[in-house]
Amino acid sequence: MPEPARPVRVRYAPSPTGALHLGGARTALFNYLFTHQHHGQFLLRIEDTDRVRFVPESQAQIEEALTWLGLRWDEVPLVQSQRKPVYQAAAETLLERGAAYRCFCTPERLEAMRAEQRARKEPERYDRRCAVIPKTESDRRAAAGERFVVRQRMPTEGTTTLHDLVMGTVVFKNETLDDHVLLKSDGFPTYHLAFAVDDHATSISHVIRGDGWLPSAAKHVRLIEAFGWPLPAFAHLPLVLGPDRKPLAKRHGAKDVLEYREGGYLPEAVVNFLAFLGWSPGTVEEIFTMEELIQRFSLEKVQPSPAVANLDRLDWLNGQFIRRLSPAELATRLAQRMPGIPATRLEPLVPLVQERLRTLAEGPPMLQFFFVAPDRYEPASLVPKGRDPASTAAALTAASAFLGGLSDWSPERLDAGLREVAERIGWTTKDFFMALRVAITGRTVTPPLIESMVQLGKDEVVRRLDRAGAALTTGAGV
Ligand code: GLU
Repeated sequence: MPEPARPVRVRYAPSPTGALHLGGARTALFNYLFTHQHHGQFLLRIEDTDRVRFVPESQAQIEEALTWLGLRWDEVPLVQSQRKPVYQAAAETLLERGAAYRCFCTPERLEAMRAEQRARKEPERYDRRCAVIPKTESDRRAAAGERFVVRQRMPTEGTTTLHDLVMGTVVFKNETLDDHVLLKSDGFPTYHLAFAVDDHATSISHVIRGDGWLPSAAKHVRLIEAFGWPLPAFAHLPLVLGPDRKPLAKRHGAKDVLEYREGGYLPEAVVNFLAFLGWSPGTVEEIFTMEELIQRFSLEKVQPSPAVANLDRLDWLNGQFIRRLSPAELATRLAQRMPGIPATRLEPLVPLVQERLRTLAEGPPMLQFFFVAPDRYEPASLVPKGRDPASTAAALTAASAFLGGLSDWSPERLDAGLREVAERIGWTTKDFFMALRVAITGRTVTPPLIESMVQLGKDEVVRRLDRAGAALTTGAGV
């Protein structure tokens, strides 16, 4: 794609109505990738003019989630609720130019109008009753304190054409456009007015947003033209769907971005997952750094059809990214989840679990036993199926006696020696190692046993075997 003529500036413009979900994060990411590819700026704008749906902590959560994903924004975020006078002045300009008009219709009248339209099976649209009120009369009624909204005056004939970078050329029939509200009776702007004013004020060159806004795009083009401002380029991103082809939601297992952080996902994995929601590099490669994504991304390769999210792929990607971390990096990330345990103590243990982790959250339970001895033994898990407590206690004692006398604490020696012990007492190695595993770790599924014993050290291993053996003999289960 040739370098666009205007300096590239884009924005992510969430409404602070809750946490950042995957669909919103995907929109933010595509904006970020596109603008960085063109050495442009990425702005954040908080669209909080809908005071009913406003959630106070939402902005902080969104900012935290974007930061975690590595999507740093440039400049101070613009907050729409602080700009009420700017929108009012903009509405005034449109009134002056006749591109908008005051509407004094009461909510009751509008409801009756819509009911009639429904009854006639017509689309519900404002019937333009107030469009003919002369400006002088309109000014007088407003000055007298009558309540009004400001509506955009739409053409009723012809077409409006949008050249969308993702959706292609879309032609709208003007007769289908509604004279929608720009300024509400409480003086707050609607999305339409605030969006146009702010994108102009911040010199946005490309509007990259969800395709829920595509049906309104013709009105937006008309509005920007009414102000006499240059049109930005538009790119509407396809919806993100769950496997049942309904919009991706919690019931599909989708979480908010910060919940993925809590769940032990790496931001790199989430970013890769999001990048492929509607975009693909056109090659078989699947794993990219942010830098690589910036180089490879293109709006032309974003599919106009909805993207279907496969959340299993996120788990797989997360495992891939965990395997790519150096032991020191993985130790540092795991240490954040294991209070009191320094990364340096985790580093030698990390190779034992790195291949098995799908999330960082799986790490602490797998590694806990290195730092804390099992506090309880359940005979049901300690005694292998088909064996009895007394013979299991004897097997543990035999292991302890053998290990206690060892001077060579190497994996080879432990493995060969323990196999010999199993043979000598007439146990299968499978049962014998399972009893040892539970006695030493308190768990049935663990990192490789011999390597874990090497890391725990002789004294600790022998102590745990003896404790488990004693618990079986006394039958106390502790
Ligand atoms: N606040 C709008 C939303 O959350 C933003 C749309 C846009 O990017 O212009 O859908």
